[in-house]
Amino acid sequence: MEQDIKVIICEFVDHLLPDLTPYEASLYLYLLRNSVLHNGSPEIRVGKRTMAVGYGTGSRGVKTNYAHITKIIKGLEAKECIRIGDTNREGTLYIINLPRDIPIVAEKIAGFAAQDQEEDYFTDPEKRRIVFERDKWICQYCGEGVTTKNITIDHYIPQKDGGGHNKENLRTSCLVCNGIKSGKPYEEAAPLLLKSIQERKARSQS
Ligand SMILES: [Zn+2]
Repeated sequence: MEQDIKVIICEFVDHLLPDLTPYEASLYLYLLRNSVLHNGSPEIRVGKRTMAVGYGTGSRGVKTNYAHITKIIKGLEAKECIRIGDTNREGTLYIINLPRDIPIVAEKIAGFAAQDQEEDYFTDPEKRRIVFERDKWICQYCGEGVTTKNITIDHYIPQKDGGGHNKENLRTSCLVCNGIKSGKPYEEAAPLLLKSIQERKARSQS
């Protein structure tokens, strides 16, 4: 369950939060906490009065009114975050969708997965070759030709900064330049690369 909560929170923040108003986001969390996170059930029956007390009492003690709560609920329903069931004396039934089951979120997750799959030019040797061919077997930093002995692939935007294995982010690089550039953004590595290139030139001329 702990792992589940981590996934739920990450998917909520990464993919759902950008599409919700702040009011919708907090009401969704309130409903989620009192349904799925409470007893594992996606259903919760609650009256708007209870909801207004639990969710809408601000720091000044002002209670959110029913009309406002109703508007937020309708917003969440329109975005398919919740479904609204019947109403009886104990309140209204709400069915809470987990972030990944909400269409706008599911679409984004599927999009990312597809992108990851088709764009890995780093791990697959056949695809690495496509990068080498594109760069004509020339180190993209020092301009020297490379051989199978000293050829490497550099992530132009470092992996730790979110740079991916897609073709656009990969550069053919010689071992020396990659050692300098590795893990750094280009702006940071550029003066070091230049220094190294000058040293190598000086050495070959002497
Ligand atoms: Zn190089």
